Amino acid sequence: MKKKPQRSCVSCRTVRDKKDLLRIVVTPEGDVVYDPSGKLSGRGAYLCPDEKCITTELKKAAKLSKGLKKPLTDEEIKELAGSLLGSIKTS
Ligand SMILES: [Zn+2]
Repeated sequence: MKKKPQRSCVSCRTVRDKKDLLRIVVTPEGDVVYDPSGKLSGRGAYLCPDEKCITTELKKAAKLSKGLKKPLTDEEIKELAGSLLGSIKTS
């Protein structure tokens, strides 16, 4: 039997199948991007397909700017959350 890869949400720590989580990546350039392919290089983090987890974590990331060379602006957070949430609604 093949075991499904699992990851935990960085916001609420819920463990889910990797394919059920959304991946965001901090690129080597210090940008935060949504990675639907799961193949971008950089420091990745997984989030539930849940508005609360996404916005909470993005706001936290912006505040702490942990590992980010460029802190996220409110506008960037909104944009990123929008594309993450947009991907949920289509499924
Ligand atoms: Zn979560």
